[in-house]
Amino acid sequence: MKTSVKQGDGFLGAMIPFNRSSLQGRELEYIFQTISIGQIAGDQTFSKRCHTLLEQTLGVQRALVTTSCTHALEMAALLLDLQPGDEVVVPSFTFVSIANAFVLRGARPVFCDVRPDTLNLDETKLEALITPRTKVIVPVHYAGVGCEMDAILEVAGRHGVPVVEDNAHGLFGKYKGRWLGTFGCLATQSFHETKNITCGEGGALLINNVRFAERAEVIREKGTNRSRFFRGQVDKYSWVDLGSSYVMSDVLAAFLFAQLEVWPVIQKDRQRIWQAYHEQLAGWCDTHQVRQPIVPPHCEQAWHMYYLLLPSLRARTALIAHLKARGILAVFHYLPLHLSDMGRRFGGREGDCPVTEDVSDRLLRLPFYNSLSRADQDQVIRAVLEFPG
Ligand SMILES: *Cc1c(COP(=O)(O)O)cnc(C)c1O
Repeated sequence: MKTSVKQGDGFLGAMIPFNRSSLQGRELEYIFQTISIGQIAGDQTFSKRCHTLLEQTLGVQRALVTTSCTHALEMAALLLDLQPGDEVVVPSFTFVSIANAFVLRGARPVFCDVRPDTLNLDETKLEALITPRTKVIVPVHYAGVGCEMDAILEVAGRHGVPVVEDNAHGLFGKYKGRWLGTFGCLATQSFHETKNITCGEGGALLINNVRFAERAEVIREKGTNRSRFFRGQVDKYSWVDLGSSYVMSDVLAAFLFAQLEVWPVIQKDRQRIWQAYHEQLAGWCDTHQVRQPIVPPHCEQAWHMYYLLLPSLRARTALIAHLKARGILAVFHYLPLHLSDMGRRFGGREGDCPVTEDVSDRLLRLPFYNSLSRADQDQVIRAVLEFPG
């Protein structure tokens, strides 16, 4: 499966990609089953198994698999009745979906800066951004390290604003001993191919406040009460609310369940990879003014990514080129949302979120995937250590 690099790149070996998907267990067997028993639409055997596994493992009231994390966020915006002119506080250092899902309902994103250590929403800057129009706060557990949820929930609670956790990076991580995804009234998961556990494209909505459960089913089923119909609670189903088509196919749920059922193995593999980077690059980082990830002692991280904070944009660009010449793909993200074309339309300006603007230029993500072999990882580490900087 390895791809060769063009000669012109000055490298003749196999490429180490940034991400690569892999089978973790019984994916093909389960997909074959869904097809043989004729269950390829949604909410059948394997979707239900995913729901039960997430509900029982995390202790959430309800879990519903969806077509993506983006769609789970759109469901959250519908469930919280976001209206034109409402405001939603999101970190600027994050993925576009978090803002977009709420902007689709006419809401206006208000961008919060992140903490310089964990790169999570800076809880000390949150209160100043809350206005009478604030309808929701969306913390993102960046790299699977928990946000300061006690402080965030305290501010949110005082202002009566609901919290929705974007837990795309944080599944099976904990904050002060409690699972990420169980703090907000709602939380969203991603099973996109770049995440720890995947089915290619997929997500889930976690519901921690049971009053959202029935309406979530309706929104997910095109605004119909189809779920109640199948439970025999109504004798016909019809259009009862807003909604869209957010149900995952059971073919994908079969793939997803095969990964979810071995989640401790996946997390353990990723922990080993993360720790190897962390330990073997520590000395080099020290002498090259490179900052490694910081995980506060009260956070059990979800081992989602390994990043380095280079001293400058120039150093980052040079390291990316150095790795690429050795057949290794390292990538960066995120461009500050408040400085994007859309962010500027909502009033974003340079200097609004100084930490975001700074780290966005300097952060580099190293190859990190479940099947990354020790030999390939050693090659990445050796290549970094050879970087003169
Ligand atoms: C990947 C990601 C998403 C989007 O997930 P999709 O399932 O592709 O919609 C949202 N938020 C964060 C923080 C992500 O990393």
